[in-house]
Amino acid sequence: MPLYQEQTIKVHNSLTGKKETFIPINEGHIGMYVCGPTVYSNVHLGNCRTFMSFDMIFRYFRHLGYKVRYVRNITDAGHLVDDAEDGEDKIAKKARLEQLEPMEVVQRYTVDFHNILEKFNFLPPSIEPTATGHIIEQIEIIKDILEKGYAYEVNGSVYFDVVKFNETNEYGKLSGRKLEDMIANTRELTAQDDKKSPQDFALWKKAEPEHIMRWPSPWGDGFPGWHLECTAMSTKYLGETFDIHGGGMDLKFPHHECEIAQAEASNGKSPVKYWMHANMLTLNGKKMAKSTGNSILPGEIFSGENDILSKPFSPAMVRFFMMQAHYTSILDISNDALLASEKGFNKLMDSIKSINSLPIGSKSDFDVPTWKHSCYDAMNDDFNTPILIAKLFDAVKHINLIKEGSETITKEDKEILFDTMKSFVFDVLGLEDKQSSNADLEKLSGVVELLIQLRKEARENKDFATSDKIRDQLAELGIQLKDGKEGTTYSL
Ligand SMILES: [Zn+2]
Repeated sequence: MPLYQEQTIKVHNSLTGKKETFIPINEGHIGMYVCGPTVYSNVHLGNCRTFMSFDMIFRYFRHLGYKVRYVRNITDAGHLVDDAEDGEDKIAKKARLEQLEPMEVVQRYTVDFHNILEKFNFLPPSIEPTATGHIIEQIEIIKDILEKGYAYEVNGSVYFDVVKFNETNEYGKLSGRKLEDMIANTRELTAQDDKKSPQDFALWKKAEPEHIMRWPSPWGDGFPGWHLECTAMSTKYLGETFDIHGGGMDLKFPHHECEIAQAEASNGKSPVKYWMHANMLTLNGKKMAKSTGNSILPGEIFSGENDILSKPFSPAMVRFFMMQAHYTSILDISNDALLASEKGFNKLMDSIKSINSLPIGSKSDFDVPTWKHSCYDAMNDDFNTPILIAKLFDAVKHINLIKEGSETITKEDKEILFDTMKSFVFDVLGLEDKQSSNADLEKLSGVVELLIQLRKEARENKDFATSDKIRDQLAELGIQLKDGKEGTTYSL
């Protein structure tokens, strides 16, 4: 029986503002879409936190035995500067400034994005589609929305008619806004505006002659509006209604609101059962912004090349730090917070390593099955990783007491303890114990150096049988010795 049949997960649904029991549309299967990065610059640490929250959620579902189709897109066209409705495409602008092909910009920062996520030990999504790879699908949806009367064409651009849509549907239901208030609080349209109402948003934008990213369409050369790609790709890969749509809190409005409007206008169905939003990351108590200097890139944290932190921190440690906060809370990153977190991280890793050598007793002073249950309860309560980590540290406390001889544990409980710790720490939280591999490498190097020394002594004593044996047996283990002028070196 898959684990998920024993667990009831509660999810905070941004659409209703309530924690709801999670029931997937198709039993045992989950469709999850998360808005990915716009690849025009190095990936932000704040975005990494959002993607990491959904990586953890993806991991937990998989741990429970669900078959998850996880789609996370790459925005490589259509996202305009300042998330605006008019102006330059973020990628086209970067391409112009750096004199690159737009696809060179996309390639460069997609590689950076994957590289950073790999360091953070992310699982790859099931599908990672791009906006430019789905222009045809986007044009088809625009045609559909036009046909249904929820959009209009002006001068080669197509806009979504929010006022018309709101007559039969509810625009603003996700972000808790009312269209009347939005209209009251926006400036009047100027004469040059093509839009009927300021709330209308572009489905297709006409490309001016200087615009370098352009595609042919029934309305002339242009490019898709930013919100449309997610509707096209989520519908294509997950269906008209799917289980989970995630993203950063900042995408709730207008991006996700517009996704709902597009989907409802085109197929009459609400696209998503559970909307989930991850909160932001601040640095030293302030919003991260390149312009104020209050900003740090993931790579700068790993290498230590920055003016904000006192030392480098490993990706696994930063991941542990992020997992110590609930995904819906704001998290502040600072040198002190990272240093404190690092102590905990090392303690946790050391503790896991020591479980196997714990002495076995005839009874357990620590109720391991109940503790295991409480770990699942924490995750089932809207993926509450800080509570889960507190539970893991309860186990660390008992492991230490057993080590000291103040408590005992049975063989059976010790196995449950080890398996549960490993599952939650490595599989669900996605932490890696890189420290131990570094330490192991150091030990290995000491052992090989010792053997090189013994071989040298054997050769000096003309004991060639022994010296050859050392060389050959190391070679069999994949360790090559090389004799040079400066002495013997080795490679793995
Ligand atoms: Zn999106």
